[in-house]
Amino acid sequence: MLISGHNSMKVIVLQKGERIMETLKSLAVEKSLRGFFIGIGAVRDPEIGYYDSGRREYLRMKLRGNYEVVGLIGNIVDGPSGPIVHAHISLGGKNGEVLGGHLFEAKTSVTLEIILIPLAGLRRTLDEQTGLLLISEG
Ligand code: ZN
Repeated sequence: MLISGHNSMKVIVLQKGERIMETLKSLAVEKSLRGFFIGIGAVRDPEIGYYDSGRREYLRMKLRGNYEVVGLIGNIVDGPSGPIVHAHISLGGKNGEVLGGHLFEAKTSVTLEIILIPLAGLRRTLDEQTGLLLISEG
């Protein structure tokens, strides 16, 4: 993992084998990074999810193999017990098909190039209606 930046934006480049969510969580804790991010690259064996609002739970899907990261988008916001990394991903397969959803975890297979736009002052709190930690005022 490499991290650099000028102005206030940060460039984070993950190397082959690094786990996206684990790495971003570590960075959030160790470097106090908060904000919104976008990224492209390639991953293998991603686990994605779809939030079933009726059942108030994620349906989890473990995918096998290599995928293009057509788009990674997410944010890092303070929660009740430390920073929460929330990311969604669009994954491109070898026939051009795209799958996507909430990202639980994926391993970088070639590289993953992320730009983080810092933004402090947001917080996630438990939303009773959905059972999710949502960004709230204050
Ligand atoms: Zn999500």
